[in-house]
Amino acid sequence: MLSEIANNRVRATTGNAECTGVPRVLRGTRRRFRGMFRRGVIVLVYHRIGSTAHDPDNLVVSPARFAEQLDVLKRWGVGIPTRDLPALLAQRRFPRRGYAITFDDGYVDNLTCAKPLLEKAATPATVFVSSGFTSTGKPFPWDESLTGMSRAQLREISDSGLIDIGGHTHNHPRLGELQQEEQAREIAQCKGELEEFLGKKISTFAYPFGWYGTDYTDTTKRLVSEAGYSCAFAVRPAPLVDESDVYGMPRCWVADWDGDEFARRLSDWYSR
Ligand SMILES: [Zn+2]
Repeated sequence: MLSEIANNRVRATTGNAECTGVPRVLRGTRRRFRGMFRRGVIVLVYHRIGSTAHDPDNLVVSPARFAEQLDVLKRWGVGIPTRDLPALLAQRRFPRRGYAITFDDGYVDNLTCAKPLLEKAATPATVFVSSGFTSTGKPFPWDESLTGMSRAQLREISDSGLIDIGGHTHNHPRLGELQQEEQAREIAQCKGELEEFLGKKISTFAYPFGWYGTDYTDTTKRLVSEAGYSCAFAVRPAPLVDESDVYGMPRCWVADWDGDEFARRLSDWYSR
């Protein structure tokens, strides 16, 4: 489990090698040219905001670095709630440079550390929650020292108005490895439970682990659509553009980078 998460991180931050047959120097020029005229949204995926020496899977960004990254984003483009992305995609109305912030799993520090910084920056975000780790006291399998937010904490973060809650299955499985019925149950149970105790419609979804082919498949995408979600997010370092799939929206994995490094990554993702 740990190495799989780490592999995801490496793949997310470095991307897959491009084998286009175009010389490297021309590829760079082409990407810069594309970046100049593009309209698109960079969707970022975070996990935890906090300070800890124990972070084997690189899931944690320090509060100071998160604040730096928010500063970079405010100067770079316009923040968009994820729930608005399906309509913008359908109408091909992406801004010149947009960004959306997401958090996966539902860690307590999303409320205690991330929310105050998001409020200070007036930046919307979405937390994708695995409902089986909410108020159950059950630790996350990849780090037994961590549990998810309680229901009261989830309500508090959701009531802020700035932060939406989305679905992330019930037990955080690799959906692509499950039988169809079990996938459908994971996807629907999460939506049902979150809607029941938040009293709000849950319309956005993020695939656990997030890579197409291994972690979710075309069957998974159909099941997410049939369950009533309006969009779903993957993990792939690329911008969301007019041609993107609404049930396979790319997200770029963020690590504990300072503002300069984060700005470089942003520019690289945007030009892909
Ligand atoms: Zn997750």
